[in-house]
Amino acid sequence: MTDDVMKKEDDSIQYFLPKTSRISISSSSSSGNGRRRRFAEWLPWKLFQDQMNPDKANHGWFIGRYARECLHILPNLPTCIKWPFHQPSVLEWHQVDESLREPGIYYGYRPEVSSWMECCHSLFTANNETLNFWTHFFPTVFFIWRTVQLASQWNKEDDLHHSEYAHSFISYMMTAILYPFMSAVAHGFSALSHRARAVLFFMDYAAINFYAYGSALLYRSYVLPDTWMENETGTNIYLTVCFILSLASTALTCTSRAFVRDVVAQRLMRLAAFTLPYIWVSIPLFARLVNCFAYDESSSCPTPETLRAAKYHLCQVIVALLASFCYASHLPERVMPGMFDYVGHSHNLLHICGVTATLFQMEGALLDMEVRRPFLTQNHLAMIDPYWSVWSPVILLAGHVLLVGGFGLYIYWNEAATVECQKNKMKCH
Ligand SMILES: [Zn+2]
Repeated sequence: MTDDVMKKEDDSIQYFLPKTSRISISSSSSSGNGRRRRFAEWLPWKLFQDQMNPDKANHGWFIGRYARECLHILPNLPTCIKWPFHQPSVLEWHQVDESLREPGIYYGYRPEVSSWMECCHSLFTANNETLNFWTHFFPTVFFIWRTVQLASQWNKEDDLHHSEYAHSFISYMMTAILYPFMSAVAHGFSALSHRARAVLFFMDYAAINFYAYGSALLYRSYVLPDTWMENETGTNIYLTVCFILSLASTALTCTSRAFVRDVVAQRLMRLAAFTLPYIWVSIPLFARLVNCFAYDESSSCPTPETLRAAKYHLCQVIVALLASFCYASHLPERVMPGMFDYVGHSHNLLHICGVTATLFQMEGALLDMEVRRPFLTQNHLAMIDPYWSVWSPVILLAGHVLLVGGFGLYIYWNEAATVECQKNKMKCH
């Protein structure tokens, strides 16, 4: 038996194995791939050798020994089992291009150019985009589930008028699904290339501005004060301006990424492009809230349910303001640089606040929708015209696709020209 035992070597973990089945697993220098390969080679070999040997064909002995050796190898399994692709590394702020650096974020940047598999892997490993992806991926799944649930519930009621009345809400839900989805895709796969980063964030901006129009449809259909609802021309102008602003905001945000190099100017342009449409879209909502909490006879919240809906809308406004504050201030990482590289930085908070605001908006509008339905339908104030509730979002989406396509082509040609310049050693701009 002594002959069958090998002695411990300096840099190896000792395993009490037969000489014929010796394995040596380095505790410090062997790679996980090497360990895994040796372990895989050893197992079938030992299984057959021992059982073919009449002296060792003792199943009790074999199972005990096999189990003991497995126990030896188990503590090493976490390092043996590796992702079967090259693991993407994370970089410090000075190792990435200036345009990718975030104030107060020191570490955890992904490489500027990665493969598809590396991007997929980066979603499950710690870097400063991991939570940005998941904080919008899970809400996307939730909003899809909620839309299907509500649509099937309204479908069961078999009420044609109710289904027309709900068209605006379903259109709004489509925009609410699209914006976190596009954001998750942009954050997850922006490391593919410079072109991919630009185009994916163009799509992200377009989806946010499309959602702003979805919110306007929602307000027009279920939330506006009664007196505003009665003014058909006014509501049509409101929606038309929202439509134009949505496209203008996408053009401005894409311009900030495609043409502007100054980081502060980029941020200001994006902040303006998202904030100004938000204010315009929300003006009727502000009017409703002011009127609602006035508690006079003309209050637009005459019942406890409408008051509860107004409270949801108020929470939405507060959380949306908080989201804008996080985006503009870069807090908390600005005051404690390096502390929030992976978790809790301002972009994480922006995502969480944004999705929470959407949830408040959705629940408030659902309450309004149910409670105000008799009043809106009996007075012919409900927006059941499919031109606005169905076709205008479709036309707007086509407009956003065209805009993103145009800016995407510019990026494609511009980068191709830059590469050509560099190849020919010409002076490039
Ligand atoms: Zn984001």
